[in-house]
Amino acid sequence: MDNTHRTMANEAASLPENEGAARTLNFLEEIIEADLAAGKYKSILTRFPPEPNGYLHVGHAKSICLNFGLAKRYGGKTNLRFDDTNPAKEETEYVDSIKEDVRWLGFEWANEFYASDYFDQLYEWACVLIKKGLAYVDDQSQEEIRRTRGTVMQPGVNSPFRNRSIEENADLFRRMRAGEFPDGAKVLRAKIDMAHPNMLMRDPLMYRIIHTGHHRTGNRWCIYPMYDYAHGESDSIENITHSICTLEFDVHRPLYDWFIEKLEIFPSRQYEFARLNLTYTVMSKRKLLELVKNKYVAGWDDPRMPTICGMRRRGYTPESIRLFAEKVGVAKRDNVIDLSLLEWCVREDLNKRANRYMAVLDPLKVVITNYPEGATEEMEAVNNPEDENAGKRRIPFSREIYIEREDFMENPPKKYFRLSPGNEVRLRYAYIIKCEEVVKDAAGNITELHCTYDPGTRSGSGNGRQVKGTVHWVSAAHAGCAEVRLFDRLFTEARMDNIPEDKDYKDFINAGSLRTVTAFIEPALKALPHLAHVQFERLGYFTVDADAMPGKPVFNRTVTLKDTWAKVAGK
Ligand code: ATP
Ligand code: MG
Repeated sequence: MDNTHRTMANEAASLPENEGAARTLNFLEEIIEADLAAGKYKSILTRFPPEPNGYLHVGHAKSICLNFGLAKRYGGKTNLRFDDTNPAKEETEYVDSIKEDVRWLGFEWANEFYASDYFDQLYEWACVLIKKGLAYVDDQSQEEIRRTRGTVMQPGVNSPFRNRSIEENADLFRRMRAGEFPDGAKVLRAKIDMAHPNMLMRDPLMYRIIHTGHHRTGNRWCIYPMYDYAHGESDSIENITHSICTLEFDVHRPLYDWFIEKLEIFPSRQYEFARLNLTYTVMSKRKLLELVKNKYVAGWDDPRMPTICGMRRRGYTPESIRLFAEKVGVAKRDNVIDLSLLEWCVREDLNKRANRYMAVLDPLKVVITNYPEGATEEMEAVNNPEDENAGKRRIPFSREIYIEREDFMENPPKKYFRLSPGNEVRLRYAYIIKCEEVVKDAAGNITELHCTYDPGTRSGSGNGRQVKGTVHWVSAAHAGCAEVRLFDRLFTEARMDNIPEDKDYKDFINAGSLRTVTAFIEPALKALPHLAHVQFERLGYFTVDADAMPGKPVFNRTVTLKDTWAKVAGK
């Protein structure tokens, strides 16, 4: 074993399950391994650079897992850098939520930085470029600048201000900063090439005038750097070795490199991977903000939102999201990932950690007529067959119980193994019962069932008698009442990235994405803490919502036990 392999093996041993498994390297890992092998860097430094203008979503989660995951795998570090160069849209509320979400996902950053911390340095470097004759102040409006940029086929037109002297540029830029000019009166542009085949290299903007307060720098600045100028320079200031961003930035890379080369600063390098897209949802912050503002959802953390706080409230775990990020992998081409993969990861993780309980969402009363009135006995149940440490509990059983309305059929088809007149079914952890009578109201609705039980069939009593169906139940006298929120996909259309042009994404909001029911729950479910993960047997995984209060349990359905949508879609 050579050294590299030993390091890798040790690393892998400390990685969470599924992340250290043998698999081929993705292209970023190949690049990093080559860089490390060539001695290009002693250790790697990545960054996660959110703009604090909204809450993080599952796409950001992918980027977080990638940036932090790579650093962790190769013994490096990751900075959290708020890309707060745009004064108007940014708020401290978002900064706080972003930090909470990154930590919740299980990652700790080496440093917390703000691009706005670099405004002085960026300004100085702009002055350096002016002195080198590589930047100039342009008096044209942004509209004029756009018009004279040319097209992919045609070169742009040089600005009449392009040949200002270095002294004049330096003086004007200083006065831009001093606040002598109104918004839009002037901009600073890099002097590259108005005929460059890459449109972004045609004298791109570096600074514009915006007389607006900033959430951190207050009114100290009235000129703000553009993304392309600020981002690479910020990477370089921090000595970021691998600056990983999404594919749409590949055309920006020559400019990223140009600034670094001309300024002769630390050579950070940019690498692009495919943005994560998911079916049945939208991820643009503008759209998510609109859903919140116009109250299509209850807030950023509505459990139907693809936001990290929404997924948390819904009952997704950090482990399941990290597993999802790993499964999605790192692609070089844009793709749309099926939401059912994310749900599969959630089930995979909750199956191991969620204790099983019984709850009835759509109750039908069953009276066991030969069971002694007023008697109660306790049935023993295994909390989690996947986890021996989860222990056992006792569930009260009595004469009147609730079962799921769905688990009874008056006129069943062949091969219906649940309850029907004259038929037997096992009550989970309890007895075999037989339906003797169906009680109806005047309108013909079934109000309750009268059954008899076979006392010799108590679960675990070793009685060999078998029946085909087992149903869950709760004892009526002992049950608690809970509000249960049943979530479904927020949109009816899988490919929300590809809706017809004459439609708006809001036309596809799923009207049935939230259904609230009142359920009966077994006593052990009455007082669980917020975000406890449970399985309601045969129904799905659920979690305790933030709205729950003592005596008033509220559950969110995290995910059903099986993928019902795949069936609907005929897959
Ligand atoms: P929006 O365009 O909706 O405002 P954004 O990409 O501008 O989102 P940022 O806050 O700038 O949001 O993103 C921070 C980081 O997360 C960036 O590095 C960005 O590339 C990455 N990121 C954002 N969305 C996705 C996604 N869907 N998949 C993977 N990475 C993403
Ligand atoms: Mg962005």
